[in-house]
Amino acid sequence: MIPASRLSLNTATVRERWDLRACVDGCVRHGIGGIGPWRDKLAEAGVDEAARMISGAGLRVSGLCRGGWYTAAGALTDAVLDDNRRAVDEARAIDAACLVMVVGGLAPGSRDIDGAREMVAEGLSKTLEHARQAGVPVAIEPLHPMYAADRSCISTTAQALDLCDALGEGIGVALDVYHVWWDPALAAQIERAGRERLLAFHICDWLVPTRDLLTDRGMMGDGVIDIAGIRALVEAAGYDDLVEVEIFSSQDWWTRDPDEVLATMVRRGIEAS
Ligand code: ZN
Repeated sequence: MIPASRLSLNTATVRERWDLRACVDGCVRHGIGGIGPWRDKLAEAGVDEAARMISGAGLRVSGLCRGGWYTAAGALTDAVLDDNRRAVDEARAIDAACLVMVVGGLAPGSRDIDGAREMVAEGLSKTLEHARQAGVPVAIEPLHPMYAADRSCISTTAQALDLCDALGEGIGVALDVYHVWWDPALAAQIERAGRERLLAFHICDWLVPTRDLLTDRGMMGDGVIDIAGIRALVEAAGYDDLVEVEIFSSQDWWTRDPDEVLATMVRRGIEAS
């Protein structure tokens, strides 16, 4: 059971219908304690105004989505690194608990996944220099292996933690049940991560069947993930912070009244998480 005050609304969950202002007001209306904005919503509102809006409403920020995409240009370009510096600055401006990193898949036209992983490690180490100075924790989000080609060549918690160990302080993982629930090593890796490396915890559910690889995530309780079980593991490891609800759902939740989505999210946080 997760009380509403511990939930955080990832703005992607209602992204089709609400801007940042509406998301902030919605959280307040439904007693939700935190928000996890995407950078497009920040840009729309203006970063300074967004920061005022969020802190004025008394919301905490579970994370900023997202930096990364180190492989997108085929090499680590200044443009990619600059964009990640800006993401760090934006995360600091809104006092985000972390900057969530989706690191990128294969470089365009490439079959070299080891090379992609090297590029990501180098990119993260460069971003981390700036993030440490800014005091912004960097959170690698391992994505389900079905996205290894086009979104993230880091697919498991173990892989992400190996990278954290190589890079040192100021970096950890954003654990999203959608991406990691199937992993037989999950319990051991959560314990290995400990409080220091567990920077964010995202929830939603895995639907059977899944109709779209990207935009058919389920509301908690509608799928097959043992969310309460995974939550117990992260809490046993010391994580007691916000639980972010992140649901990409083009055929269902994105089509509904966002107030219904938030009310359901609060109820399922209690009943099914
Ligand atoms: Zn996530």
